[in-house]
Amino acid sequence: MVLKEDTDNDFSKDRQGTGTYEWADINANACLGCPHGCLYCYARTNALRYKRISSRDEWLIERLNLKILDKKWPKSNKVIMFPTTHDITPTNLEHCIKVLRNMLIPGNKVLIVSKPHLSCIQRLCSELEAYKDQILFRFTIGSIDEGICSFWEPGAPSPAERYHALEYAFKQGFQTSVSMEPMLHDCHDAIVTFWFLKRYVTDTIWIGKMNKLRTRVDMSSPDNEFMVKDLENKQCDKEILRLVERLKDEPKVRWKDSIKAVIKQYPEVRA
Ligand code: SF4
Repeated sequence: MVLKEDTDNDFSKDRQGTGTYEWADINANACLGCPHGCLYCYARTNALRYKRISSRDEWLIERLNLKILDKKWPKSNKVIMFPTTHDITPTNLEHCIKVLRNMLIPGNKVLIVSKPHLSCIQRLCSELEAYKDQILFRFTIGSIDEGICSFWEPGAPSPAERYHALEYAFKQGFQTSVSMEPMLHDCHDAIVTFWFLKRYVTDTIWIGKMNKLRTRVDMSSPDNEFMVKDLENKQCDKEILRLVERLKDEPKVRWKDSIKAVIKQYPEVRA
């Protein structure tokens, strides 16, 4: 992947890892569980596997990790990604602000990733104003289709609210980026979503497929099974290559590992 000149910084530098390590060097979290309840959530799948929760529904209850408040975050040149296995919500916001301040005060750079509640972002922008240069917001918006988002992410803010949170952070002078991973719909929807969001993005827009959806989504539900099959068809290689062809020259676009893997199979495609 080639870094493009207008977005070449510590947050966007080329990393060799996959998943969260494509974005940051260190993962940090302050709680277990997430009321957003995304059907494809990898953190819920892992929590079940390692018996940190006993049912899928238990994931919807947040349990704060109070011990993290005592953690020391010495100044480092590495980027910390926060959070990676939960979200910042109205109910854990105060706790997250304390943890973020502990990271930022020594001078660390923090990538704040969220399906954002507007009220949370307004508060974060106000509380963390002094550390603006150390923060990059990355908001997950996999589609601007309200119905599609409410199916896959039933407890998360609507795409309209996330869009307004992005606009707010941008207008407050923060660095902003978007994760369109996972894409929740087809190639056409991804292109429209990209065009709609990019005006409020100062950094990068990362695009990726929904990974391992058959192991993460509860396939015992016929509705889920229908939607998974539908998404697999919509995100087949041919459609992904159409998307790459359309957006490959956009300087803010970055392809996540799932799309790079498709591109690699077709060496004639220039990304
Ligand atoms: S917002 Fe993130 S952590 Fe929360 S349920 Fe969705 S994918 Fe999981």
